[in-house]
Amino acid sequence: MSLGKAMMHARKQKSAIKAAVAVAAAGEHAAGQQTIQAMHILQMPVLVLNASYEPINICGARRALVLVLKGIARTEEEHGLTLHAQRARVPMPSVIRLLEYRRIPHQTRALSRKNILLRDRNTCQYCGEAMPPGELTLDHVVPRSRGGSSTWENLVACCHACNRRKGNRLLSEIDDMVLLREPRAFSLHTSRQIMRMLGRGDDRWRKYLFY
Ligand SMILES: [Zn+2]
Repeated sequence: MSLGKAMMHARKQKSAIKAAVAVAAAGEHAAGQQTIQAMHILQMPVLVLNASYEPINICGARRALVLVLKGIARTEEEHGLTLHAQRARVPMPSVIRLLEYRRIPHQTRALSRKNILLRDRNTCQYCGEAMPPGELTLDHVVPRSRGGSSTWENLVACCHACNRRKGNRLLSEIDDMVLLREPRAFSLHTSRQIMRMLGRGDDRWRKYLFY
């Protein structure tokens, strides 16, 4: 089965996982404030390795669990927390590995707000301030009204203050506004940088990040 097909299949099974997650959340509810923590855990980043142990992606813990429960991947490193489903106790993964080798084409990720914020590390590319995704907008470096397109090279994370200040102008028309760095497409190289950044303080990840 190809990974694409497998993922689609896994998506169909998502309701089963959702039920398990709901049970887990309900269990946590008894412990009061830990409900939020339980939901947070399901969104925690999990490192995805190819069958060859090469790191290829980061996904949320919920998606990682689907892949493990469907037998598409196996847990290489546990997180240390356990998800209590109806009859099973599922250890939360920190690193998973695909069971079948997947050729990774050197293509870029889908152009999306989420991926642009990820590329720009949730940091306004003008003033350099890092902030929660909800407080950031996307700025067209060359404004749309002046022919700027919606591309990786023309979209950057931007705070509302800088976005207002820049308005409809080109950077060449503003004296004290520059880009922190040239915006580029989100490549495997970018992904690896992010993996290293996220894995810096985590021994479970670090041993796989020598690529
Ligand atoms: Zn700013």
